[in-house]
Order: sequence, then structure tokens, then C-alpha cells
Amino acid sequence: MSVAGQVFVLSGPPGAGKSTLGKRLRQRFADLAYSVSLTTREPRPGEVHGVDYVFVSREEFLAKVASGEMLEHVEVFGNLYGTSAAAIRQSIDGGRDLLLEIEVNGGLAVKRAFPQAVMIFLLPPSPAELEARLRGRGTEDEPKIRGRLERVAYELAQARHYTHLVVNDDLERAVEEVATLLTAERLRLERRWPLVAPAWGL
Ligand code: ADP
Ligand code: 5GP
Repeated sequence: MSVAGQVFVLSGPPGAGKSTLGKRLRQRFADLAYSVSLTTREPRPGEVHGVDYVFVSREEFLAKVASGEMLEHVEVFGNLYGTSAAAIRQSIDGGRDLLLEIEVNGGLAVKRAFPQAVMIFLLPPSPAELEARLRGRGTEDEPKIRGRLERVAYELAQARHYTHLVVNDDLERAVEEVATLLTAERLRLERRWPLVAPAWGL
């Protein structure tokens, strides 16, 4: 019998570095599952359907909400975003840890569904650096950047509901810190015991 995987929620304002960190963690922990979110927003150049997001119409999205397929969903920046319940269940029931890179309201909904989830809030070193990174990414036009910056204060106000805070100044250090949280979870007795017990005849 496999022990259930853990859910790791990585939140923080747009530009905090969630995707960058997520990518690095998946390279480092090859068995780390991640949930490809659904969204109604247009793909950015280079984004791949089924990899970065599952891009759907508003009608398709709302039909999935109505049929109870979504664990959580939000409307931000004029679009719907959400996490499929089945994908999460499949990972954790199969004993795989799962990383979700989602905004705060979705993160808190996941915490309600999985109270044991590890809640990590990611912050860039300063507001100026956040703005510089958002602009530097070059994926949004000015009104979209403004919209994202206007929501930063709200997202920060939700950080108190999280359990861990990582500052993404030096990327390598931030990756190391989140990796430490993953490793710590994997060392929990209930996870370790079934691996160790057979050698002890237990
Ligand atoms: P999010 O997924 O939270 O919106 P991204 O991962 O897209 O954020 O990061 C926003 C931008 O900041 C990207 O261009 C990324 O390359 C850059 N970035 C991420 N982490 C760092 C860092 N530690 N130092 C400098 N730039 C970074
Ligand atoms: P973007 O348009 O920049 O890719 O994403 C906008 C915001 O939506 C980001 O803060 C991102 O983390 C969040 N987001 C992406 N997928 C999901 C999801 O499945 N659920 C929730 N709640 N937020 C998501």
C-alpha cells in the first residue's frame, strides 16, 4: 500500500517566480507531479497547450465547474483559472507529491480541501524588483502589468494564511529552500516507515 503524496501550494504575486521555481524543482525532483491548470486566457507566444495550461473556452470551463470537475477556480485579470480535482487525487493517491503554482484564493481553497497541504508563499525581494521582473518577462502589455500590480497588496495580505515564506532574491537559494521543505516532508515518519520497516522485519 503506498502512502499518500503531499500537496505543495506555491503562491505569490505574478512575477514572484512561481513558474521559474516550479520548473527548477521538477528538474530536481523527477517524481514531483504538477497540475496543469485550465484557463480561459489566450496562450502567450511559446506556451504549449497541455503543458503550460489547458486552454479552454469560457463555456468549456464553466461546464467543468458545473459538473464538479474543478477542485478550485478563480477569476483574475479577466480570465478563469482552475485546478482539476481528478489530477490532484490521482497524484496523491498514487503516492506522488504534487506542486501547485496558483494564486492565493485558489491556494486557500486547496488548503480547505487538503488541510495537511504545505503552504508556501513566495515573494520577490522588493516591490521595485517585482515590477522590474514583471516588465522584464515581457509577456504582458502595460494595462495587464498594471492590473497585476494592483492586485499585489491583496495577495500579500493573504500571506498570513500560509505556513512558509520564501524570498526569491537569489534564485539558487530560493530553490534550495523550497527543496528543503519537500525533503522535510519526505522524511516524516509515516512516509519513511513503510520504506524502512521491511529491512527490520516489521
Ligand atoms: P510567476 O510565475 O510567479 O508569475 P515567473 O517565474 O514568470 O513568475 O518570474 C517572473 C520573471 O522573473 C521571469 O522573467 C523570471 O525569469 C524572473 N525571475 C524569477 N526568479 C528570479 C530571480 N531570483 N532573479 C531574477 N529574476 C528572476
Ligand atoms: P498568468 O496569466 O500570469 O499565467 O496567471 C495569472 C495568475 O493565475 C497567476 O497568479 C497564477 O499563479 C494563477 N493561476 C494559474 N493557474 C491557476 C489555477 O489553476 N488556479 C488558481 N487559483 N490560480 C491559478
